[in-house]
Amino acid sequence: MGLPQRVEYLIIGAGVHGLSTAYHLSKYLKAKGQGSGADVLVIEKSSIAAGASGVACGNVRCNYYQEPMTRLMMHCMDVWESDPDTYAYNSVGYLTASFEPMRAGLETIYERHQQLGYPSTLVTGKAEVKKYMQGVFHDWQAEELTAVLHEHRGGHAWSRQAIHGLAIKAEREDARIITGPAVTGFRFNSAGEVTTVETDYGAIEVGHVIVAVGPWIKNLWQMLELPPAVPNPRNPSEQVDLWRFLALQEGEIDVDPLLHITNDGQRPPLVHVDSDVPLYSEDGRLVWDQPWGIYFKRDKHAVQGGAVPIDLGTEAAIDPYGSRSPHYCVDDNFYDLWVASLAHCMKRFEGQRRFASTKPSGGVGAFSADNFPVFDFMQPNVYVIADSNHGFKMIGVGEQVARVLTGETSELLAPFAYGRFAQQKTLPKSNAPFPWM
Ligand SMILES: Cc1cc2nc3c(=O)[nH]c(=O)nc-3n(C[C@H](O)[C@H](O)[C@H](O)COP(=O)(O)OP(=O)(O)OC[C@H]3O[C@@H](n4cnc5c(N)ncnc54)[C@H](O)[C@@H]3O)c2cc1C
Repeated sequence: MGLPQRVEYLIIGAGVHGLSTAYHLSKYLKAKGQGSGADVLVIEKSSIAAGASGVACGNVRCNYYQEPMTRLMMHCMDVWESDPDTYAYNSVGYLTASFEPMRAGLETIYERHQQLGYPSTLVTGKAEVKKYMQGVFHDWQAEELTAVLHEHRGGHAWSRQAIHGLAIKAEREDARIITGPAVTGFRFNSAGEVTTVETDYGAIEVGHVIVAVGPWIKNLWQMLELPPAVPNPRNPSEQVDLWRFLALQEGEIDVDPLLHITNDGQRPPLVHVDSDVPLYSEDGRLVWDQPWGIYFKRDKHAVQGGAVPIDLGTEAAIDPYGSRSPHYCVDDNFYDLWVASLAHCMKRFEGQRRFASTKPSGGVGAFSADNFPVFDFMQPNVYVIADSNHGFKMIGVGEQVARVLTGETSELLAPFAYGRFAQQKTLPKSNAPFPWM
């Protein structure tokens, strides 16, 4: 398919955010009499779900310490639940079991859930936590955990299926998706608006541009001639790079997925554990003596999950997925830690290290200076959706962006405006070992 000479709304990137925006924007343009899906074009340099959205573990949760994240995630949860079949969404719930440094944070989150009407259960105390977990998984054996937050909504989605589901919904609304062209630059007018988007397939004149390129954001940020640094949220007198890269540590054990089942024979909730109990390998070797955090779920063909990511610095990943090789992101160290932690938590995972997958896994995420998204107009007609790697679960962001593009305001997106760095209004940090909690 050739590129059109002009399009009113050009969306760059066919991941969760680009396609959610395309679908909702097409719908709202028509409903508001402002146009139709024919005015919306997604261009994608590779293929649908080729980026972070297609490799995500698919966790969907609402246990955020920061209120704006909780509110936004509740909205996203509504979108997931609006069409679970097309979004391949498993509403199995989400269990977060944590050690003492995180107890107060989980209590705060629980109180907010109650205020906002989000259904969750909080249990505290070592013995009580173990008993609660054993009520779900009879062989739960982790000690020293002092709080568990059980979200009764949330769970996970099959990531590639979910993104293809969004693409189908967008195309049903007459949006176009063209795979192949890579954006290589922008031309601006004197007002700073982008008039033309340059690609390796030719140029397109545009009315509006929506940038939704996931871990490639630093490249596009440069092309948009935006400042590379912002005031450091922890020390505003110095400047820090806005974008840095982390290698997400995820993998699978190739066991029968039915090994992982609840006491009442159901698909299990997603489980997340933070602890500092030292971890040992099956032959008694100490593999980890620092605080650790892990998560896991029953996948279609295995048990899948991840651990705390590794910092790659600010210059990694010019094309984060272009150079992926089987162990680009994870290595034996990851599997030693992750499988030892699974066995620490549940007897069913003892002796499973030998089933560690050799398939490619993990991926790269681009994180902002305060680890929260930037959702904002970065030029008068250019909206940037840069989720700081929070975002497979954020399927509802595109819905809110579509409202903004059709003349509404979004209270849910306002806290993520770029101006927060200069105004020193960045979001508070939790005690979690993960940058995304
Ligand atoms: C291993 C891993 C696991 C994760 N697990 C979870 C999870 O369980 N839950 C969760 O909520 N989040 C998770 N995340 C984070 C989440 O996947 C991302 O935040 C989210 O998918 C980003 O979506 P996106 O649409 O912005 O980007 P992407 O899905 O990366 O899509 C961007 C697209 O833009 C295209 N593109 C890039 N540059 C150009 C260009 N110049 N021209 C044209 N096209 C271009 C790319 O090819 C790509 O297809 C995970 C991330 C990783 C890496």
